[in-house]
Parts: sequence; C-alpha cells; structure tokens
Amino acid sequence: MARHTDSVCRLCRREKQKLFLKGQKCYTEKCPIESRNYPPGQHGLSRRTKISEYGIQLREKQKIKRMYGLLETQFRNYFEKANRQKGITGENLIKILERRLDNVVFRFGFAASRSQARQLIKHRHFSVNDRLVDIPSFLVSEGDIIKVKDKSKKLDAIHNSLKKVKDSTYNWLSIDKASLSGTFIQVPERADVPLNANEQLVVELYSK
Ligand code: SF4
Repeated sequence: MARHTDSVCRLCRREKQKLFLKGQKCYTEKCPIESRNYPPGQHGLSRRTKISEYGIQLREKQKIKRMYGLLETQFRNYFEKANRQKGITGENLIKILERRLDNVVFRFGFAASRSQARQLIKHRHFSVNDRLVDIPSFLVSEGDIIKVKDKSKKLDAIHNSLKKVKDSTYNWLSIDKASLSGTFIQVPERADVPLNANEQLVVELYSK
C-alpha cells in the first residue's frame, strides 16, 4: 500500500499546525512547530500568505486526512459514505473517522500516535469482542470491547504510551488500564472530538 515516506513533521509544518503524528515528541519542545511554524522548503518563511478559497478548503482537507493518516482514495470513500448518511455530512465524516480501530486504539492511549496504533494492530496485538482484528480501518461499533491480546500485555510500547494517558479523557470511551481493555461506549458527538479543523470546508471542496 502507498504511504507517506516524507518526514511527517513536514506535513505539520505545511499545515502550520500540530497534527500529532509522532507520538510523544509532539508534546515536547522538540516538536518543530514550536520553533519553525512555517511551511518547509527554501521559500517557506517568505511564501506569500494570500490563499484562495479553494486553497483554504484544500488545506483543511489535507489537514484532516493527514491527522487520521489516510490516503486520498480512502478519505474520499469515507466522505462518500458520510454523504450517504442522514445528518450533517461533515459531522458524519468525523464520526466515521473516529470509529476506525487505529484511531480508537490511539484515543485509548494504547499507542502514542495513530501510525503506531496501525502498526500494533497489524502485528495482531488487539481483539474486538474477543476476536482478533488486524485491520486498522476496521470500524468499531457502540458497545465494542477492545482488548490487548494476552500475549501482548507486556509490550513496552503499549505501557509507555498508557503512562501518559489521564483517566476518562474522552466521554465516549471507557478504559480499564489494569486489564488493558476499553469499551467504545458510543459514537462521539462532533463537539466532543478534539479536532482543530473545519470539516465543513471539506464538504464544500468535494461538492464543487
Ligand atoms: Fe512532528 Fe508531532 Fe510536532 Fe507534528 S506535532 S511537527 S508530527 S513532533
């Protein structure tokens, strides 16, 4: 599968915003956004700032797509799915993205970033309702219970990540750190999702 091979920090600098792609580094002063919050490249600092309406919509789409670690086709497919659902398309889109297993594992704190969550899932460290799931795009449903597999309970990566997590961070998730399991209580409301992005601009972009 195609994937980003460039430094992921360059993606944040391109959007001039933290996208939290690197795990713990994102929360330290080593994060390049702290010292160089301008687009990468020779003309990053001097680049003209005037940006068209289309450009604004495009950047917002790129930002959300990159935060969730998706490629264009995957992202577009999620948009089409959101568009077919009842309700507000932009909100539907975020709700679908939040249901991805890699995102849920990340939100639980079992991984320091969504990309690490993807790797752990592919390496078969998680089950959903006691069935092994090694597909990061698996969509979690309300009431699903996600567990770290018994054979994986000593993994440093999981414990190191969990140490940084406060209890009850998200009201739609319930985590039991002792048993390394968590319940996806319900699909979150858009207002509850900490995502510094305007999904309505994505709707406008794709509706052209
Ligand atoms: Fe890199 Fe994380 Fe900072 Fe983004 S937020 S620039 S991924 S360290």
